[in-house]
Amino acid sequence: MSTHPYRVVITDCDHGSIEEEKAEFGQMGAELILAQVQEEKELIQVCKDADGLLNQYALLTRKVLENLPKCKVISRYGVGVDSVDSKAATDLGIIVANVPDYCVDEVATQTIAMVLSLTRKTAFFDRKVRSGQWDFHLGIPIHRIKGKTLGLIGCGKIGLEVARRISAFGVRVMTYDPYLEQAPKGIELRDFDTVLKESDFISIHCPLNNSTRHLIGEREFKKMEKKPLLINTSRGPIVDEKALIRALREGLLTGAGLDVLEKEPPDTQNPLLQMENVVLSPHVGFYSVESISELKRRTAKNVADVLTGKWPGSVVNPDVRGKTRASISS
Ligand code: NAD
Repeated sequence: MSTHPYRVVITDCDHGSIEEEKAEFGQMGAELILAQVQEEKELIQVCKDADGLLNQYALLTRKVLENLPKCKVISRYGVGVDSVDSKAATDLGIIVANVPDYCVDEVATQTIAMVLSLTRKTAFFDRKVRSGQWDFHLGIPIHRIKGKTLGLIGCGKIGLEVARRISAFGVRVMTYDPYLEQAPKGIELRDFDTVLKESDFISIHCPLNNSTRHLIGEREFKKMEKKPLLINTSRGPIVDEKALIRALREGLLTGAGLDVLEKEPPDTQNPLLQMENVVLSPHVGFYSVESISELKRRTAKNVADVLTGKWPGSVVNPDVRGKTRASISS
Protein backbone atom coordinates (compact mmCIF):
# COMPACT_ATOMS: atom_id res chain seq x y z
CA MET A 1 0.00 0.00 0.00
CA SER A 2 1.54 3.33 -1.10
CA THR A 3 1.88 6.06 1.53
CA HIS A 4 1.95 8.78 -1.12
CA PRO A 5 -1.17 10.91 -1.62
CA TYR A 6 -0.72 10.88 -5.44
CA ARG A 7 0.86 8.67 -8.03
CA VAL A 8 2.28 10.34 -11.12
CA VAL A 9 3.75 8.42 -14.07
CA ILE A 10 6.06 9.72 -16.79
CA THR A 11 5.06 7.41 -19.65
CA ASP A 12 8.25 8.17 -21.57
CA CYS A 13 10.75 10.95 -22.16
CA ASP A 14 14.09 11.36 -23.87
CA HIS A 15 15.54 13.95 -21.48
CA GLY A 16 18.70 13.08 -19.64
CA SER A 17 17.34 13.46 -16.12
CA ILE A 18 14.03 14.03 -14.33
CA GLU A 19 15.39 16.24 -11.54
CA GLU A 20 13.01 19.15 -12.32
CA GLU A 21 10.01 16.81 -12.27
CA LYS A 22 11.17 15.24 -9.00
CA ALA A 23 11.50 18.67 -7.42
CA GLU A 24 7.97 19.65 -8.45
CA PHE A 25 6.32 16.46 -7.16
CA GLY A 26 8.58 16.07 -4.11
CA GLN A 27 7.00 19.22 -2.63
CA MET A 28 3.55 17.59 -2.63
CA GLY A 29 4.70 14.15 -1.55
CA ALA A 30 3.68 12.51 -4.81
CA GLU A 31 5.18 9.25 -5.95
CA LEU A 32 6.86 9.74 -9.34
CA ILE A 33 7.51 6.80 -11.65
CA LEU A 34 9.57 6.98 -14.85
CA ALA A 35 8.09 4.15 -16.93
CA GLN A 36 9.71 4.56 -20.40
CA VAL A 37 7.08 2.41 -22.08
CA GLN A 38 5.42 2.80 -25.50
CA GLU A 39 3.36 -0.32 -25.98
CA GLU A 40 -0.40 -0.20 -25.24
CA LYS A 41 -0.57 -3.13 -22.84
CA GLU A 42 2.46 -1.97 -20.86
CA LEU A 43 1.13 1.59 -20.74
CA ILE A 44 -2.14 0.39 -19.22
CA GLN A 45 -0.28 -1.80 -16.75
CA VAL A 46 2.05 0.90 -15.48
CA CYS A 47 -0.43 3.83 -15.59
CA LYS A 48 -3.62 2.17 -14.32
CA ASP A 49 -3.34 3.61 -10.80
CA ALA A 50 -1.93 6.97 -11.84
CA ASP A 51 -3.57 10.25 -10.82
CA GLY A 52 -1.65 12.11 -13.51
CA LEU A 53 0.61 11.44 -16.48
CA LEU A 54 3.50 13.22 -18.14
CA ASN A 55 3.90 12.14 -21.73
CA GLN A 56 6.27 12.64 -24.63
CA TYR A 57 5.84 10.18 -27.53
CA ALA A 58 3.92 7.15 -26.17
CA LEU A 59 0.49 6.99 -27.80
CA LEU A 60 -2.29 7.52 -25.29
CA THR A 61 -5.16 6.04 -27.29
CA ARG A 62 -8.81 5.86 -26.28
CA LYS A 63 -8.23 2.27 -25.23
CA VAL A 64 -5.36 3.24 -22.94
CA LEU A 65 -7.32 6.15 -21.46
CA GLU A 66 -10.39 4.01 -20.85
CA ASN A 67 -8.22 1.83 -18.63
CA LEU A 68 -6.97 4.66 -16.40
CA PRO A 69 -9.86 5.15 -13.95
CA LYS A 70 -7.99 7.52 -11.60
CA CYS A 71 -6.23 9.69 -14.17
CA LYS A 72 -7.25 13.34 -13.93
CA VAL A 73 -4.63 15.04 -16.08
CA ILE A 74 -2.16 14.37 -18.89
CA SER A 75 0.58 16.91 -19.51
CA ARG A 76 2.53 16.73 -22.73
CA TYR A 77 6.19 17.74 -22.90
CA GLY A 78 5.99 20.42 -25.61
CA VAL A 79 3.51 22.20 -27.80
CA GLY A 80 1.86 19.49 -29.94
CA VAL A 81 -0.40 16.88 -28.35
CA ASP A 82 -0.67 14.44 -31.25
CA SER A 83 0.26 11.56 -28.94
CA VAL A 84 -2.89 11.99 -26.86
CA ASP A 85 -6.45 11.22 -27.99
CA SER A 86 -7.76 14.52 -26.65
CA LYS A 87 -11.37 13.80 -27.66
CA ALA A 88 -11.31 10.56 -25.65
CA ALA A 89 -9.69 12.41 -22.75
CA THR A 90 -12.47 15.02 -22.83
CA ASP A 91 -15.15 12.31 -22.91
CA LEU A 92 -13.54 10.71 -19.86
CA GLY A 93 -13.10 13.97 -17.94
CA ILE A 94 -9.30 13.98 -18.19
CA ILE A 95 -7.63 17.37 -18.61
CA VAL A 96 -4.95 17.53 -21.34
CA ALA A 97 -2.33 20.24 -20.86
CA ASN A 98 0.76 21.38 -22.76
CA VAL A 99 3.53 24.00 -22.66
CA PRO A 100 3.05 26.17 -25.76
CA ASP A 101 5.73 28.80 -25.23
CA TYR A 102 8.80 27.27 -23.58
CA CYS A 103 11.15 28.00 -26.51
CA VAL A 104 9.94 31.29 -28.00
CA ASP A 105 13.21 32.99 -27.05
CA GLU A 106 15.31 30.20 -28.57
CA VAL A 107 13.47 30.00 -31.93
CA ALA A 108 13.48 33.79 -32.29
CA THR A 109 17.22 33.86 -31.59
CA GLN A 110 17.82 31.00 -34.04
CA THR A 111 15.98 33.03 -36.68
CA ILE A 112 18.08 36.13 -36.03
CA ALA A 113 21.25 33.99 -36.04
CA MET A 114 20.33 32.81 -39.53
CA VAL A 115 19.56 36.30 -40.81
CA LEU A 116 22.90 37.54 -39.47
CA SER A 117 24.86 34.53 -40.66
CA LEU A 118 23.48 34.89 -44.19
CA THR A 119 23.82 38.66 -44.27
CA ARG A 120 27.42 38.74 -42.99
CA LYS A 121 28.19 35.36 -44.62
CA THR A 122 29.75 34.05 -41.41
CA ALA A 123 29.24 30.33 -42.08
CA PHE A 124 30.51 30.82 -45.65
CA PHE A 125 33.66 32.69 -44.54
CA ASP A 126 34.30 30.20 -41.75
CA ARG A 127 34.47 27.40 -44.34
CA LYS A 128 36.74 29.48 -46.60
CA VAL A 129 39.19 30.48 -43.86
CA ARG A 130 39.47 26.89 -42.60
CA SER A 131 40.25 25.73 -46.14
CA GLY A 132 43.12 28.23 -46.33
CA GLN A 133 41.33 31.06 -48.18
CA TRP A 134 41.85 34.34 -46.31
CA ASP A 135 40.10 36.65 -48.77
CA PHE A 136 37.01 38.73 -48.05
CA HIS A 137 36.46 39.26 -51.80
CA LEU A 138 35.14 35.70 -51.93
CA GLY A 139 32.00 36.93 -50.15
CA ILE A 140 31.32 40.04 -52.21
CA PRO A 141 28.68 41.52 -52.30
CA ILE A 142 27.67 41.99 -48.68
CA HIS A 143 24.84 44.42 -47.95
CA ARG A 144 24.14 46.59 -44.91
CA ILE A 145 21.32 45.22 -42.73
CA LYS A 146 20.09 48.63 -41.53
CA GLY A 147 17.22 49.93 -43.65
CA LYS A 148 16.21 46.52 -44.99
CA THR A 149 12.70 45.02 -44.67
CA LEU A 150 11.84 41.77 -42.93
CA GLY A 151 8.55 40.09 -43.84
CA LEU A 152 7.08 37.72 -41.26
CA ILE A 153 4.75 34.99 -42.49
CA GLY A 154 2.80 34.58 -39.26
CA CYS A 155 3.17 36.94 -36.35
CA GLY A 156 2.35 35.04 -33.17
CA LYS A 157 4.62 34.49 -30.18
CA ILE A 158 7.81 33.75 -32.12
CA GLY A 159 7.17 36.21 -34.96
CA LEU A 160 6.69 39.03 -32.45
CA GLU A 161 9.99 38.20 -30.71
CA VAL A 162 11.80 38.11 -34.06
CA ALA A 163 10.33 41.54 -34.83
CA ARG A 164 11.52 42.96 -31.51
CA ARG A 165 15.04 41.68 -31.99
CA ILE A 166 15.50 42.60 -35.66
CA SER A 167 14.12 46.12 -35.04
CA ALA A 168 17.25 46.81 -32.99
CA PHE A 169 19.23 46.49 -36.25
CA GLY A 170 17.18 49.25 -37.90
CA VAL A 171 15.14 46.81 -39.97
CA ARG A 172 11.55 47.63 -41.00
CA VAL A 173 9.14 44.78 -40.18
CA MET A 174 5.95 43.82 -41.99
CA THR A 175 3.78 40.75 -41.61
CA TYR A 176 1.23 38.68 -43.43
CA ASP A 177 -1.00 37.03 -40.83
CA PRO A 178 -4.63 36.48 -41.86
CA TYR A 179 -5.73 35.97 -38.26
CA LEU A 180 -4.50 39.33 -36.94
CA GLU A 181 -7.15 42.02 -36.73
CA GLN A 182 -4.72 44.86 -36.17
CA ALA A 183 -1.03 45.39 -36.64
CA PRO A 184 1.12 44.78 -33.56
CA LYS A 185 3.05 47.88 -32.45
CA GLY A 186 5.93 48.67 -34.79
CA ILE A 187 4.88 46.09 -37.41
CA GLU A 188 3.05 46.77 -40.68
CA LEU A 189 0.18 44.37 -41.43
CA ARG A 190 0.14 43.65 -45.19
CA ASP A 191 -1.36 41.22 -47.67
CA PHE A 192 0.61 38.12 -48.67
CA ASP A 193 1.80 39.36 -52.07
CA THR A 194 3.00 42.72 -50.70
CA VAL A 195 5.12 40.95 -48.09
CA LEU A 196 6.59 38.68 -50.79
CA LYS A 197 7.25 41.65 -53.07
CA GLU A 198 8.75 44.14 -50.61
CA SER A 199 10.82 41.98 -48.24
CA ASP A 200 14.61 41.61 -48.22
CA PHE A 201 14.26 38.84 -45.64
CA ILE A 202 11.23 36.55 -45.38
CA SER A 203 10.85 34.55 -42.20
CA ILE A 204 8.21 31.87 -41.66
CA HIS A 205 6.45 31.62 -38.28
CA CYS A 206 3.02 30.16 -39.01
CA PRO A 207 1.98 26.64 -37.98
CA LEU A 208 1.97 23.71 -40.40
CA ASN A 209 -1.57 22.69 -41.35
CA ASN A 210 -3.56 21.91 -44.49
CA SER A 211 -3.71 25.56 -45.51
CA THR A 212 0.00 26.30 -44.94
CA ARG A 213 1.52 23.14 -46.51
CA HIS A 214 3.60 24.43 -49.46
CA LEU A 215 2.40 27.98 -48.72
CA ILE A 216 5.72 29.10 -50.20
CA GLY A 217 6.22 27.56 -53.63
CA GLU A 218 6.95 28.45 -57.24
CA ARG A 219 4.27 31.17 -57.51
CA GLU A 220 5.51 32.84 -54.33
CA PHE A 221 9.22 32.74 -55.32
CA LYS A 222 8.31 34.49 -58.58
CA LYS A 223 6.60 37.29 -56.61
CA MET A 224 9.74 37.98 -54.54
CA GLU A 225 11.07 41.05 -56.35
CA LYS A 226 13.98 41.76 -53.98
CA LYS A 227 15.67 38.35 -54.27
CA PRO A 228 15.30 37.95 -50.51
CA LEU A 229 16.82 35.63 -47.97
CA LEU A 230 14.26 33.03 -46.88
CA ILE A 231 14.38 31.81 -43.29
CA ASN A 232 12.34 28.85 -42.11
CA THR A 233 12.48 27.93 -38.43
CA SER A 234 8.84 26.80 -38.35
CA ARG A 235 8.10 23.51 -40.18
CA GLY A 236 9.76 22.15 -43.33
CA PRO A 237 6.65 21.34 -45.42
CA ILE A 238 5.46 24.97 -45.33
CA VAL A 239 8.05 25.48 -48.08
CA ASP A 240 7.90 23.45 -51.30
CA GLU A 241 11.52 22.28 -51.15
CA LYS A 242 11.81 21.35 -54.83
CA ALA A 243 10.59 24.84 -55.78
CA LEU A 244 13.01 26.34 -53.22
CA ILE A 245 15.96 24.50 -54.77
CA ARG A 246 14.93 25.72 -58.24
CA ALA A 247 14.50 29.30 -56.95
CA LEU A 248 17.98 29.24 -55.38
CA ARG A 249 19.51 27.86 -58.59
CA GLU A 250 17.73 30.49 -60.71
CA GLY A 251 18.78 33.32 -58.39
CA LEU A 252 15.22 34.25 -57.37
CA LEU A 253 16.49 34.08 -53.79
CA THR A 254 19.81 35.35 -52.42
CA GLY A 255 19.99 32.55 -49.88
CA ALA A 256 18.12 30.49 -47.34
CA GLY A 257 18.42 29.68 -43.64
CA LEU A 258 16.67 26.44 -42.75
CA ASP A 259 16.29 24.90 -39.31
CA VAL A 260 13.58 22.60 -40.65
CA LEU A 261 13.28 20.58 -43.86
CA GLU A 262 10.58 18.58 -45.61
CA LYS A 263 12.50 15.43 -44.73
CA GLU A 264 14.49 15.38 -41.48
CA PRO A 265 17.28 14.36 -41.55
CA PRO A 266 17.77 15.18 -45.24
CA ASP A 267 19.01 12.67 -47.82
CA THR A 268 22.76 13.00 -48.35
CA GLN A 269 21.96 13.83 -52.00
CA ASN A 270 19.76 16.82 -51.10
CA PRO A 271 21.14 19.70 -53.25
CA LEU A 272 20.63 22.18 -50.38
CA LEU A 273 23.58 20.52 -48.62
CA GLN A 274 25.91 21.66 -51.42
CA MET A 275 24.75 25.26 -51.71
CA GLU A 276 27.14 27.92 -50.36
CA ASN A 277 24.30 30.43 -49.82
CA VAL A 278 22.27 28.09 -47.60
CA VAL A 279 22.70 27.85 -43.84
CA LEU A 280 21.31 24.72 -42.23
CA SER A 281 20.72 23.55 -38.67
CA PRO A 282 19.25 20.25 -37.45
CA HIS A 283 15.86 21.40 -36.06
CA VAL A 284 17.61 22.84 -33.02
CA GLY A 285 15.53 26.03 -32.75
CA PHE A 286 13.64 24.88 -29.66
CA TYR A 287 16.69 23.82 -27.71
CA SER A 288 18.68 25.45 -24.94
CA VAL A 289 19.59 24.17 -21.49
CA GLU A 290 17.16 26.73 -20.09
CA SER A 291 14.26 25.95 -22.46
CA ILE A 292 14.39 22.23 -21.69
CA SER A 293 14.61 22.87 -17.97
CA GLU A 294 11.59 25.20 -18.24
CA LEU A 295 9.70 22.64 -20.33
CA LYS A 296 10.23 19.89 -17.75
CA ARG A 297 9.32 22.12 -14.83
CA ARG A 298 6.15 23.46 -16.47
CA THR A 299 5.02 20.05 -17.77
CA ALA A 300 5.22 18.76 -14.21
CA LYS A 301 3.56 21.88 -12.81
CA ASN A 302 0.50 21.32 -15.05
CA VAL A 303 -0.03 17.96 -13.33
CA ALA A 304 0.75 19.30 -9.86
CA ASP A 305 -1.73 22.16 -10.39
CA VAL A 306 -4.60 19.84 -11.28
CA LEU A 307 -3.87 17.43 -8.43
CA THR A 308 -3.90 20.34 -5.98
CA GLY A 309 -7.18 21.77 -7.27
CA LYS A 310 -6.08 24.39 -9.85
CA TRP A 311 -6.45 24.71 -13.63
CA PRO A 312 -3.10 24.27 -15.36
CA GLY A 313 -1.48 27.11 -17.32
CA SER A 314 -2.49 25.76 -20.75
CA VAL A 315 -5.44 23.43 -21.32
CA VAL A 316 -5.65 21.76 -24.75
CA ASN A 317 -9.19 20.40 -24.36
CA PRO A 318 -11.18 23.28 -22.77
CA ASP A 319 -14.43 21.35 -23.41
CA VAL A 320 -13.48 19.21 -20.41
CA ARG A 321 -14.58 22.06 -18.14
CA GLY A 322 -17.70 21.03 -16.30
CA LYS A 323 -17.00 17.31 -16.52
CA THR A 324 -13.46 16.94 -15.20
CA ARG A 325 -12.64 14.14 -12.77
CA ALA A 326 -10.43 16.50 -10.77
CA SER A 327 -11.86 18.65 -8.01
CA ILE A 328 -10.91 22.10 -9.15
CA SER A 329 -12.03 25.28 -7.46
CA SER A 330 -13.71 27.95 -9.66
P1 NAD B 1 1.75 31.05 -32.54
O1 NAD B 1 0.55 30.19 -32.57
O2 NAD B 1 1.96 31.95 -31.38
O3 NAD B 1 1.78 31.96 -33.87
C1 NAD B 1 1.48 31.47 -35.15
C2 NAD B 1 0.94 32.63 -35.97
O4 NAD B 1 0.75 32.16 -37.32
C3 NAD B 1 -0.41 33.14 -35.48
O5 NAD B 1 -0.37 34.54 -35.27
C4 NAD B 1 -1.38 32.79 -36.61
O6 NAD B 1 -2.42 33.74 -36.78
C5 NAD B 1 -0.44 32.78 -37.81
N1 NAD B 1 -0.95 32.01 -38.95
C6 NAD B 1 -1.77 30.93 -38.93
N2 NAD B 1 -2.02 30.55 -40.20
C7 NAD B 1 -1.36 31.41 -41.01
C8 NAD B 1 -1.24 31.52 -42.41
N3 NAD B 1 -1.88 30.70 -43.26
N4 NAD B 1 -0.45 32.49 -42.92
C9 NAD B 1 0.20 33.36 -42.08
N5 NAD B 1 0.09 33.31 -40.74
C10 NAD B 1 -0.67 32.34 -40.22
O7 NAD B 1 2.97 30.07 -32.74
P2 NAD B 1 4.50 30.33 -32.35
O8 NAD B 1 4.74 29.93 -30.94
O9 NAD B 1 4.89 31.70 -32.81
O10 NAD B 1 5.23 29.22 -33.25
C11 NAD B 1 5.22 29.31 -34.66
C12 NAD B 1 5.71 27.99 -35.24
O11 NAD B 1 7.08 27.78 -34.89
C13 NAD B 1 5.02 26.74 -34.67
O12 NAD B 1 3.81 26.47 -35.35
C14 NAD B 1 6.03 25.66 -34.90
O13 NAD B 1 5.78 25.04 -36.15
C15 NAD B 1 7.36 26.42 -35.01
N6 NAD B 1 8.32 26.01 -33.97
C16 NAD B 1 9.53 25.57 -34.36
C17 NAD B 1 10.48 25.18 -33.41
C18 NAD B 1 11.85 24.71 -33.81
O14 NAD B 1 12.48 23.98 -33.04
N7 NAD B 1 12.35 25.10 -34.95
C19 NAD B 1 10.14 25.24 -32.05
C20 NAD B 1 8.89 25.72 -31.68
C21 NAD B 1 7.98 26.12 -32.65
